[in-house]
Amino acid sequence: MAKSLMIIDDSATMRKIIMRTMRMSGLEFDQPQEAGNGKEALEKLSNGPVDIVLCDINMPEMNGMEFVKKAREMSSCADTKIIMVSTESAQDLIDSVIADGANGFINKPFTPEKFQEKLSPFMN
Ligand SMILES: [Mg+2]
Repeated sequence: MAKSLMIIDDSATMRKIIMRTMRMSGLEFDQPQEAGNGKEALEKLSNGPVDIVLCDINMPEMNGMEFVKKAREMSSCADTKIIMVSTESAQDLIDSVIADGANGFINKPFTPEKFQEKLSPFMN
């Protein structure tokens, strides 16, 4: 069965680029859900969890760091894999978001190969 996916990024253009890159990576997902910030994502997730979330860090209203903490408080999202996708590259920040419950980190700009490498462990 195809995995369900949510893409969270405040840039609609970036969400499209991520979607296109996902397709190029050969990974198969159902029609993905999209959200423009963490708050909108939590609202959508309260209607039903997804398997994999790709999440930006810098966003208005609720950023990716806050989103990870809140999502990890939701028992329905216990099995959801959250992969951060960001231009941030400071190791402290990456370590801290992983400690808060994120499952991986992909730097922008990214390639289909990078998506394949980082997401395939979660596709089974
Ligand atoms: Mg952003």
